[in-house]
Amino acid sequence: VGSAAAMRRGFLEGPGKRRTEEKKAREGDKREQEREEIDPEIPACARARRLLSLESGGLLQLHIDRRYGRFARLSRSCQAGSVLLRSENYCTVVADDHVNDICSHCMKGIDRGGGARCWRCTTLFCEEACLEAAGPQHTLECSVLCERQRSKGRLLTDDETVRLVIRSLSRKLLQAEATLDEIHFDNIAELLCHDSKLQDSSEFQHRVSDARIILSWFPPVPGSPTPQEVARLMLRIKFNAHPITNGSFKRIGLGIFPSACMLNHACNYNAVYSFVPGGAELIVRAARDLKEGEQIFYSYVDPFQQRSARMKLIREGYFFQCACEWCAGTSGPERYFNSLVCNPWPDCDGHKCEAAILPDANGDEGQAVVICDACKRRHPITEMNALNKSAEEMLESALETMHKDATHGQMKLSKFLESKEAQKLHPYHLLRYQANMALAVSCFTLGDVRMRPRYLRVASDILAKWHEVDGSRLFSIQLGSMYLSCGTALLQYVRSGSCSDKSNLISEAILCANHAHSQFEVCCGENSLAVKQVDCLLGTLNRLAL
Ligand SMILES: [Zn+2]
Ligand SMILES: [Zn+2]
Ligand SMILES: [Zn+2]
Ligand SMILES: [Zn+2]
Ligand SMILES: [Zn+2]
Repeated sequence: VGSAAAMRRGFLEGPGKRRTEEKKAREGDKREQEREEIDPEIPACARARRLLSLESGGLLQLHIDRRYGRFARLSRSCQAGSVLLRSENYCTVVADDHVNDICSHCMKGIDRGGGARCWRCTTLFCEEACLEAAGPQHTLECSVLCERQRSKGRLLTDDETVRLVIRSLSRKLLQAEATLDEIHFDNIAELLCHDSKLQDSSEFQHRVSDARIILSWFPPVPGSPTPQEVARLMLRIKFNAHPITNGSFKRIGLGIFPSACMLNHACNYNAVYSFVPGGAELIVRAARDLKEGEQIFYSYVDPFQQRSARMKLIREGYFFQCACEWCAGTSGPERYFNSLVCNPWPDCDGHKCEAAILPDANGDEGQAVVICDACKRRHPITEMNALNKSAEEMLESALETMHKDATHGQMKLSKFLESKEAQKLHPYHLLRYQANMALAVSCFTLGDVRMRPRYLRVASDILAKWHEVDGSRLFSIQLGSMYLSCGTALLQYVRSGSCSDKSNLISEAILCANHAHSQFEVCCGENSLAVKQVDCLLGTLNRLAL
């Protein structure tokens, strides 16, 4: 996670200034080392630098500048799907709602009533071997957890974070020294915690009082941290910990992966991450072909939600303003969201212009007109807003109808798509609406096996177009999941026996499964559970096709 202040500064200075800065940043390490001394917000990075280089096999190098804080740059070009980083965890915990069905050590699923519980603290392990492997660290953790059960202190911090704090501290207290090549608590101590901004806040005070209670559960050990240090650890967890997902992309836990924390966020990401089963490693892969020297970004939030929603999540969750090109509106489909086509129909003098006009990206806020770059036609902002508003209302009403009556709603939707208003919307702008509609419909008609695949397919294809922005193809887990649901829904429909064009539907399902396969192969790797799930579906479909 980059320095928030540095991100903000970069954002305010605008793209021109940033480009010069980027050029300057390439001028050599010497200057960079000077910057390192300039910015007091960025902690020393010797461990992070070493770990990132080691765990990426030399592919990623840690850099520091004022705009991004710490960030990782690629040392040679590589193809989509290449593994960029295998980030080892410092420790992980099982999510609150899985403490009774997932092993606390290896994170494998456990059937109800199965597994072995620690007789003292009742923590669940899948077998004695896992309990044993948890070893001396669990012995310390165990006595702390038992103390916690006895204690009356009420914490404001959520249980998952508390367990992760206990586990990190247990590991810290048992692991005294480590070489630069070993993962160590010092790797976590280097992560950003924004404490300078939060020092006087009530949030920090709450954390300190929670930390006092947590520390009281620990036996007196030499080298115990202070409550302030533990409060900072909680903040580091808040800003840096990664939710761990299983092969079906469901959240099953939380972990600290120090080297992965060196990668910055961008909504127009160029890398994606997944986990090895059990969360021992977080693996970062290239989401498109990458060139030497590119900075590596992954998205901390779902990039396919509206810009305003993303910005809010980033601002409140990570304390910075996303300055990526999609958010700044300088590239990507994002900038077309409120856009219209200049003049889709030949007017009185046969003049037609298909250029996009962008009410929010073409000039200052509060302006009265937008001038078309192509034909210099002047478009009053009020007129554009009115058109956008009426299009939105028509769509909303179609959506509402769909809720009650899918067929009627669908008619309303197609009527809208043929309307003058819809033709005025820029195609990318319209796609977003269509994707949302299609997804919504696929949910409404969940029970109706005939309707669901059709809409899912529309939504998937739209999302696929979304990923082919600016001539480059961006791979994504979301897109893979969408195609997988679509293929599965088609299979359900075929099996329901109520269809007449069975062979067509099967080949369509195979097409969807193949799309899902290529997305997952790049994002999660050939041997991932996600790819295996798709292969399983493909096997069934191929048998049916015979
Ligand atoms: Zn286990
Ligand atoms: Zn125990
Ligand atoms: Zn962004
Ligand atoms: Zn004209
Ligand atoms: Zn024009």
